[in-house]
Amino acid sequence: MIPFLNLRDAYLELKNPIDAAVLRVLDGGWYIGGAELSAFEAEWAAYCGAAHAVGAANGLDALILALRALDIGAGDEVIVPSHTFVATWLAVSAVGARPVAVEPDPASFNIDPSRIEAAITPRTRAIMPVHLYGQPADLEPILDIAKRRGLSVIEDAAQAHGACYKGRRIGAHGDIACWSFYPGKNLGAMGDGGAITTNRSDLAEKVRLLGNYGSREKYVHEVAGTNSRLDPIQAAVLRVKLLHLDAWADRRRALAASYAAALQDSGLILPQVASESEHVWHLYVVRSSERERLMRVLAAKGIGTQIHYPIPPHMQGAYAGLGHLPGDFPISQQLAGEVFSLPMGPQTPSDTAEKLRAALEQG
Ligand SMILES: *Cc1c(COP(=O)(O)O)cnc(C)c1O
Repeated sequence: MIPFLNLRDAYLELKNPIDAAVLRVLDGGWYIGGAELSAFEAEWAAYCGAAHAVGAANGLDALILALRALDIGAGDEVIVPSHTFVATWLAVSAVGARPVAVEPDPASFNIDPSRIEAAITPRTRAIMPVHLYGQPADLEPILDIAKRRGLSVIEDAAQAHGACYKGRRIGAHGDIACWSFYPGKNLGAMGDGGAITTNRSDLAEKVRLLGNYGSREKYVHEVAGTNSRLDPIQAAVLRVKLLHLDAWADRRRALAASYAAALQDSGLILPQVASESEHVWHLYVVRSSERERLMRVLAAKGIGTQIHYPIPPHMQGAYAGLGHLPGDFPISQQLAGEVFSLPMGPQTPSDTAEKLRAALEQG
């Protein structure tokens, strides 16, 4: 059996240092904020090449706090990819703004910069590219449009820990980058977690303020903030896992290379890597018009697959109010009907590519 992803194997590989880190926090008697969180924030900022990192309770909150820090709210529009996990859109709606979708380049699955300008209106405040599946969006033209049109760039980096765009790690290309440490992400906690990174000290301070009840000084509340903090226990676990992030990304790259070689004649449309990016393979996403049959063939051989994502955000019940039709975003609609994800993780057995090839040939 080859599961789609086995989180327990990741834990077992680092069991001793993770157990020690958790016990250190329990023994320390400090369970919100404190030295463990500050140390992780400093280490994560340094890793990302950003001046600041601020923890949050999860990735969705990190996106919401970033939008609020930029004073984006009711009456505003934010440009989002039509092909993404729904959280990107939900963050925009959560602050009362309107998500305005732009279609992807199907070769990279990421937002197509050449379609962005047509979606800008006088109400547009920000562009929110997503580095989907672990591959950076094409940031240079996006940053150029944002600069010319006076917009902010909020990166949804929830799938891109350690990925590089033009030789520089994701984390401070735009105004602010938002991270999730959900257990299944490339840097995953033992529960929920999130963070922002930024070079702008004003935004870092504002996110910290908003996520801590709008308070800098105990019982003094400058703004109507919320409670969204990264727990020290999770920070301690993330500090251990951060030491292995690059090595684990190398394993993902090796697995992706073995898939590309083994599956080149499989009839599947394989993922492409843009020349300017270093992909961290959060997901290995292939396309086929026969997806359902192929997923059944693989399941019969004990190989787990998943679909990321079967229903595009514009067709979700949550967005019925926007009045979109399936044909409004035909590229996303087509991708939603064809994509599926092969097993991908640092602990995925290295002979998986051969097993996939054999299963598909017999299928
Ligand atoms: C996981 C994810 C999020 C949300 O992160 P949570 O920690 O689950 O709230 C946001 N955007 C994208 C693209 C994601 O993959």
